[in-house]
Amino acid sequence: MIRSLLVANRGEIAVRIVRAARERGIRTIAVYSEPDRLAPHVLAADEAYAIGPAPSAESYLVAERLIEVAKRAKADAIHPGYGFLAERALFAQAVEDAGLIFVGPRSETITAMGDKTEARRRMAAAGVPIVPGLTESVADPEAAVVAARDVGYPVLLKASAGGGGRGMRVVEREEDLPRAFDAAQREALAAFGDDAVYLERYLDSPRHVEIQVLGDAHGNVVHLGERECSIQRRHQKLVEEAPSPAITQEERAAMGEAAVRAAQAVAYRGAGTVEFLYQNGDFFFLEMNTRIQVEHPVTELVTGIDLVDWQLRVASGEALDFTQADVVMSGHAIECRITSEDPLSGFLPSTGVVTRLEIPSGAGVRWDGGIHEGFEVSLHYDPLLAKLIVHGASREIAIARMARALDELVITGIETSASFHRRVMDEPDFRAGTFSIRYLDEHTELLESDTSEEALRAAALAAALLEDEDRLRHRIPRIGASAQVEMSSWRAAGWPWRKGIS
Ligand code: ADP
Repeated sequence: MIRSLLVANRGEIAVRIVRAARERGIRTIAVYSEPDRLAPHVLAADEAYAIGPAPSAESYLVAERLIEVAKRAKADAIHPGYGFLAERALFAQAVEDAGLIFVGPRSETITAMGDKTEARRRMAAAGVPIVPGLTESVADPEAAVVAARDVGYPVLLKASAGGGGRGMRVVEREEDLPRAFDAAQREALAAFGDDAVYLERYLDSPRHVEIQVLGDAHGNVVHLGERECSIQRRHQKLVEEAPSPAITQEERAAMGEAAVRAAQAVAYRGAGTVEFLYQNGDFFFLEMNTRIQVEHPVTELVTGIDLVDWQLRVASGEALDFTQADVVMSGHAIECRITSEDPLSGFLPSTGVVTRLEIPSGAGVRWDGGIHEGFEVSLHYDPLLAKLIVHGASREIAIARMARALDELVITGIETSASFHRRVMDEPDFRAGTFSIRYLDEHTELLESDTSEEALRAAALAAALLEDEDRLRHRIPRIGASAQVEMSSWRAAGWPWRKGIS
């Protein structure tokens, strides 16, 4: 039984976990770096402990300190969230060695799946299709050249210890391979402290489709259907949805069964994700993420199953109380990752204080956020501010709902990715569901600013209105009652810069 839980994370996921724990009657313990003293995850928890200065290497990543705080706060368990220490097998082990429950899989599972070549070997042995290529790392450029002839060009060099899209290189021709190999090895060493590199076939326009799995400590494993995550920029996901517009019921069943086999092969416990590349009806294992994923809410909305709640229940030793046959997907869900990045300047990170935040609401809208007005966004952490998630009876309704919700969202003081997401909702290929992981390469117009006269006029007017309204909100008597009426009618008509001025 977990009665008290330390959440070893920050931002939206820490808030999400605290909420789930509170709903279970679990005492919640937050940790924070200096600048996060009054962050939403701290305010949401029952107790909070300082763990160090801003850099995560001196705070959220200091495993010993987190365990020490957990003991001091008399926590029974630690939830790592995602990122930070979530996939460090040594941390999971240290937590258990300290007599605490690690909310996640066994450390051996994390180790097995953390190494891409080992994961590929295990998956191939379990009968799960893998991307054609090697299951051992290659020692030198000569060996890579020989291996690549079998695999077939183009090939993708990958760091065995890789993650987060780093350490990957596409090679089109044999003569480019030796140099790319050396570079990949150097990059892998710098990023992961391990220079092991292997290669696999580079698929030209696959989709990224992943299956959510849930296992307990009693040997039960179910899958909760797929998530479509092809809308990416530099291998980072931007929009996710469930179900995938490309997958048939038969394919879902086949991928789901493969994912369950994958999880069973490592005696999986808790929530995990098996990622696949999908192309023309074929699917290939990519990797398994042994933690809760950023995009888990879309699965929750279509299945009605609370994944974080189940993480806590499984960690407490409970058995799943439903079977595969009980998992039914209903409607369609979409998630947009709202980040502090400026889509019009190549997703450059944006920093500053959130001067104003208006969160969309209404039917079928969910906001998993980690910011509030007055919150300072710095370069110390991941740019993910919040996730806007919608659910509707059909994909068409979900897209319309996301567009509506994005229109309601106001974040000022920093640049965010929201305007990019709003454009995606209108883009015909996205709407038709006909896209692959190359989506952004094929739609560079989504990253260009709209400099039409109408757009500029609308933006100028919107800025002036916002300024006036801020004055009103702060009761600065510079604006009369008639202006207030005028402004509320603007509001009722929707924010003018979204629609243009007529
Ligand atoms: P990481 O662990 O670094 O995130 P992944 O293996 O999960 O790396 O791959 C990240 C992304 O890179 C995928 O979502 C996909 O867009 C692309 N990718 C990976 N492997 C291939 C491949 N063999 N062919 C084409 N694209 C790939």
